[in-house]
Amino acid sequence: MSVIAFIGLGKMGLPMAQRLAGAGHDVRGVELNPVAAAEAELAGIRIHSTAVEAAEHADAVITMLPTGAHVRELLTGPDGLFARASAHTLFLDSSTIDVDSAKEFHVLAAARGLRFVDAPVSGGVGKAAAGTLTFMIGGTDEDYARAKVFVEPMAAKIVHTGAGGTGQAAKIVNNMIFGICLAATCEGLLLAERLDLAPDVFYDIAVSSSGENFALREWYPAPGVVAAAPSSHDYAPGFTSTLLLKDLSLALQAGAGTDTSLDTARAVHTLYTRMVEDGAGGYDCTALLPALAGRLGERTAAAAHRP
Ligand code: NAD
Repeated sequence: MSVIAFIGLGKMGLPMAQRLAGAGHDVRGVELNPVAAAEAELAGIRIHSTAVEAAEHADAVITMLPTGAHVRELLTGPDGLFARASAHTLFLDSSTIDVDSAKEFHVLAAARGLRFVDAPVSGGVGKAAAGTLTFMIGGTDEDYARAKVFVEPMAAKIVHTGAGGTGQAAKIVNNMIFGICLAATCEGLLLAERLDLAPDVFYDIAVSSSGENFALREWYPAPGVVAAAPSSHDYAPGFTSTLLLKDLSLALQAGAGTDTSLDTARAVHTLYTRMVEDGAGGYDCTALLPALAGRLGERTAAAAHRP
């Protein structure tokens, strides 16, 4: 059994922490939002009032926070966890953040003799609860080997992506490709509809044709065809438009930093910027289809604001 401080018990963090507790680890939770903290306590996660207290003598500190700025505030700086941690503790950041910040955290940790891996995940809330996430881990061979033991109860697949920062690189590239495929699928479905093609008929064809992709197969954006897709549940998120926009922004930032023109990703980024600016950031990302069609209705809007 290990002592694991788990910081950020939101939509992903809570089910991940529950998997670790279920595997017999001593999980110390930290969550700033009192509603989420109360939910975590009800779910059996012991809540500590400060991250410093939770991290004391911990074998691992796992962060699952909204953005790189949140991770930076927690780990770095004079009162951050890096300033107080012992060399024994392994830091795993599973948040999706920019590659440059992840690389910087590796450097800052190493300068203090600490161990850090970037360990973002793919799979969403359902796979977090089932313990079947994919982990992409950037860091040294030795730190990867240690990290693997901690993430096993949460994962169906664990990949050592290479040096520090490559975990985030894998995550950002994957989600950029997903976003492009989703936007292409939404535009295609709108065109199909206007050409009088029934969505279920088109699904039947496309799912076994060259237009097939994850967003089309699993998260079909037209309602009533794929029962488990958010579109069949009033576009209740799932994966919000705001989070996809964040990931597309991270991809464009990485593109700018590597002189890589990402014209398609930029176009999709514009579509989701518009959605978020129109107050639709809480919709599932597949609600791009009704947004493009100009019919984000009241039923859908109500679903977007469900907790
Ligand atoms: P979320 O907003 O539901 O959870 C983040 C939690 O962190 C919030 O509850 C917030 O109160 C808490 N928090 C912020 N700062 C804190 C601090 N200093 N100390 C303690 N708690 C703090 O977000 P989420 O959907 O769980 O996503 C978390 C991360 O995982 C994001 O980086 C996201 O991009 C990534 N991700 C999300 C999904 C998904 O499907 N939701 C999938 C893969 C990766």
